[in-house]
Amino acid sequence: MTAFLTKRARLHSRQERRTGIVVLVFIFLVVSSAGAQETDAASDLALLERARRLAAEILLVDTHIDLPSKLLRRDEDVATRTGSGEFDYVRAREGGLDVAFMSIYIPSDFEGSDKAERRASAQIDLVDSLTRRWPDKFELVTSARQVRERSGRGKILLAMGMENGAPIRGRLKNLHRWYNRGIRYITLAHAKANHISDASYDPHRKWNGLSPFGRTVVREMNRLGIMVDVSHLTDSACTQVLRISKAPVIASHSSCRFFTPGFERNMDDAMIRRLAAAGGVIQISFGSAFISNAYRMAEEERGKEIDRHVQINHLTPGGSKAREYTRQYKREHPLKPPTVRDVAAHVDHVVKLVGVDYVGMGSDFEGVGGALPVGLQDVSEYPRLIAEFLALGYSEEDIRKICGGNLLRVWQDVERIARESGGE
Ligand SMILES: [Zn+2]
Repeated sequence: MTAFLTKRARLHSRQERRTGIVVLVFIFLVVSSAGAQETDAASDLALLERARRLAAEILLVDTHIDLPSKLLRRDEDVATRTGSGEFDYVRAREGGLDVAFMSIYIPSDFEGSDKAERRASAQIDLVDSLTRRWPDKFELVTSARQVRERSGRGKILLAMGMENGAPIRGRLKNLHRWYNRGIRYITLAHAKANHISDASYDPHRKWNGLSPFGRTVVREMNRLGIMVDVSHLTDSACTQVLRISKAPVIASHSSCRFFTPGFERNMDDAMIRRLAAAGGVIQISFGSAFISNAYRMAEEERGKEIDRHVQINHLTPGGSKAREYTRQYKREHPLKPPTVRDVAAHVDHVVKLVGVDYVGMGSDFEGVGGALPVGLQDVSEYPRLIAEFLALGYSEEDIRKICGGNLLRVWQDVERIARESGGE
């Protein structure tokens, strides 16, 4: 019994010692991981500080901000901090933004109607009015040279891109008209095929790429010095644009299909290679559904659930009851958004694929219903993305290219080719 007890006591004390060691190791791990987290947080903060300084200093271009259609619905004092949405002067300055391409967006349903021209005109007027209302805050730019001359003076420079070629209405002379009104890129189509091109969201492939008129439009855009934008196009249309265009082309707001398999609205690796080989640039879009496949799938599933409810309960689609249910369902079933790091991963994918000279930023702020990544919620947060580039080990030179240098190079090339062809 004694012997047994002694043995038990020995066993006990060995166990205690073991437990003691385990506890000590545990404490050590907790303390050291807290220390590591602290150093991480400190270095994150240092990176963000560096990113903020960089953002303020370098030329920062965003090729897709959907402000005009928003302001057309409801006027806002965007010279002050509006407290809603994703763009205003104050936040743009905080984010270091220099050039904001205003999207002159025309709904696909306006195809073939003079409403397309009226909608385009109204939005261009609206952009003009911003520069008249607040001449010390906003200024229009229509050339790469104006960007170089006028940036860094405290103003947000507004350039214009037309999203959907519907207002061309089958006449090249309209292209001249829009050029003269300041349009410097045109996204050939939007949600549905139009008289120029097929569209990625439209299952009906009317032209198998570009229409015969669409081919003429691309050549005339080259001659005038308007950048051709392949965002929203089908793969066939994009391939044909790259074959026809004499000038490099842009994707004003598209991300990498590598992360969203089967989503034609984003560009696949082969297309990015072709775009880069032709000297063009892909401007990564921030919308959560463009960045994260999990988010996109969950959003699709949620949409199906809502549709099912609307159908079963015989609600009018788009009617007040259906809308109310949609709002409630979305509130009760929030989706997990991606983060700013995931956006950086798209940029990094392009960099690894073709190098640092063919990628930029086309946020789609004000255009995705607020479905944006954590850490990239509005124009004040570009520095967070730049901090991610720094964390990836990008040089300041690389970051300059991504943030605006690449886009400016393409714009200059487009202008040069227009001059050489005797255009405007
Ligand atoms: Zn779009």
